[in-house]
Amino acid sequence: MTEEKTVLIVEDEKNIVDILRFNLERKGYRVLEAYDGEEGLRKARTEKPDLILLDIMLPKMIGFDVCEALRKDGDNVPILLLTAREEEDDKVRGLETGADDYITKPFSMREVIARVEANIRRTSMAAPAGAAADSAMPVAGDLSINTDSHQVFRAGKAIDLTQREYELLTFLASHPNKVYSRVDLMEQVWNYGYVGDDVRTVDVTVRRLREKIEENPASPQYILTRRGAGYYFAVN
Ligand code: CA
Repeated sequence: MTEEKTVLIVEDEKNIVDILRFNLERKGYRVLEAYDGEEGLRKARTEKPDLILLDIMLPKMIGFDVCEALRKDGDNVPILLLTAREEEDDKVRGLETGADDYITKPFSMREVIARVEANIRRTSMAAPAGAAADSAMPVAGDLSINTDSHQVFRAGKAIDLTQREYELLTFLASHPNKVYSRVDLMEQVWNYGYVGDDVRTVDVTVRRLREKIEENPASPQYILTRRGAGYYFAVN
């Protein structure tokens, strides 16, 4: 009973699109293609894919701008950036523009499929418009979570989180005061069985999450750092 999921590939190199399409279709995904940033943005808006594989260096509009435009729309579709190996700064910049993750070129198809599966929405998250804060569960302070609609509220006001930010928050909040290392979080929240230097992803996601849920992100009250150990959700 699995509903067919749609992956949009935004990439200007035809041979990369072809190999991605072949492997994704073999796994049962419906695949859409776009060969420049503008076409990618248009298709993302009209076709509402379940996940986007987004190259950074694209004609007409670069991947960062596509990502940023979608997040400004309030679209929380999982976005995996395709980056070239030497562009280390791009990874951080990509995550800061709201991407969920990145895949470094040249990539193995096994890695791509694993990341797509780990990032794709497992269920349709179509939250009813204006889901009530009333039915949200208080978590700590003025923070509450509605696990049916996957919405987070602060002082009754909905906060717009990406899927990954939501999962990180709910994971930490459901284990209050327990410290998790970045490697733990990579495994538990990102579902990756390997990590390498990707733990940087955790730091950036924590920072973005703090900017959204904390009153003062520089002096957080919910998601705290235990130096040298990891992160935890603080409840007194
Ligand atoms: Ca390119």
